This record gives sequence, structure tokens and C-alpha cells, in this order.
Amino acid sequence: MNIILLGPPGAGKGTQAARLVEGRGMRQLSTGDMLRAAVAAQTPIGLEAKAIMDRGELVSDAIVSALIDAELTAMGPGTGAIFDGYPRTAEQAAQLDAILAGHGRRLDRVIELEVDEDELVRRIVGRYSCAKCGAGYHDEFQQPAIPGVCDRCGATEFKRRKDDNEETVRTRMQEYRAKTAPILPLYEARGIVSRVDGMAPIDAVTAAIEDVLAKS
Ligand code: AMP
Repeated sequence: MNIILLGPPGAGKGTQAARLVEGRGMRQLSTGDMLRAAVAAQTPIGLEAKAIMDRGELVSDAIVSALIDAELTAMGPGTGAIFDGYPRTAEQAAQLDAILAGHGRRLDRVIELEVDEDELVRRIVGRYSCAKCGAGYHDEFQQPAIPGVCDRCGATEFKRRKDDNEETVRTRMQEYRAKTAPILPLYEARGIVSRVDGMAPIDAVTAAIEDVLAKS
């Protein structure tokens, strides 16, 4: 099964994708994660993308679609894909159709996480993660059980994304409204969109997504 998790930054796409990976053996394809890895490794793509990402704007369609195509090639045919943060424009949506066809796959479902924008800013600005294992935390909503110690791996170093500040978040929201939300009608016309309340507790959102997938 191949699905898209769609929703503005901070809607919980990454969190939910990680749960589907664990529960269903699917693979998360996050263009944001791929780009951050490219920035950290200072590859040509990373060098080009860094300033754009720091401003909260969108990296070129050609770059992100090439990253997705390469990941699908590396994955092989048997594993389901969860597209997280991709596609973000109508052009990327068209490119994804072509890429999937090239890999003998089809898009089964688009799950839109519906959320309240002001609440999202609170969620994003407080979030951080373990520098070693990547486990996610939040200043207000999810602190480690022992302050300063990762629940999952015991590490004591944490990191924050550079683009998780209020000004950049507002730009990212604007990009979502202007360029990403308009792709939903394309998928609605195909009858493959399901909406899930992204403001519900994390477990309830997971259960709602599982419900959608069970019926797909
Ligand atoms: P994310 O982790 O999905 O919030 O992405 C972080 C940043 O990476 C975004 O604000 C964009 O600058 C860039 N980015 C990630 N995915 C895409 C995409 N599909 N198209 C264009 N830019 C992207």
C-alpha cells in the first residue's frame, strides 16, 4: 500500500508515519528528513537547499521528486510507502504519479490531518528531539520521564530544528495554504482522500488512521 500523509507543518505527519513504520512495516519517505540529511552531509543538494529551508520556503520540485524516485528505487517493490511532506505542490503531485507508475506502484490513499493553525505554532515551537536516536519531545506536552535524559536510549543531548521558530513556521504555513492545500481537490476527484482529526491525542489519531487503512 502507498499512502500520502498530508497536513501543514506540525500536524503530526512524522509522528504518525513512524508509528505506521513500526506497526505495519511500511517505509517513511520524508523529503524534509532527506533534505536535512543532505544539508548535514553538505552534498550539492544540501548546499542549495539550506538557505531555502531556513526561510521556510519550498525547495525545487525537481530536487525533491528526484530524492523520492531514488528512495523508491532503493526500496524495491514489496514495501509500502508513506509519503510524509511530499508532494507539496501540484507539480510534485503530477511527478509522483509518474514516479509511482515507473515503479509499478499506485497511490492508494491520501490521509489529511486536519488541524488548528495557532495550536500548530505552539506545537512546533516547543518541539525537540534526542540527538542520538531521534525520539521526539516537547517543552509543554512531552518531556522525558527523567529531565534531560532520553526515555528511549538514555542519551543526554537533544536538538531543535533550525526552522522551528515562529517566524519560519508562519512562512511554512503560508506555503502550505498557497501551494499544498490546492492539491487536495485533485485527489478528492479520485475518491482517495480521508480526513482525520489531527488535534486528537496521538493514539487516537493513530487509531483513526489504522481504521482508514483497514478499509482501503
Ligand atoms: P518538513 O520536515 O517536511 O517540515 O520540511 C522542512 C523543509 O524542507 C520545508 O520547509 C521545505 O523548505 C523543505 N521541503 C521538505 N519537503 C519538501 C517538498 N516536498 N517540496 C519542497 N520543499 C520541501
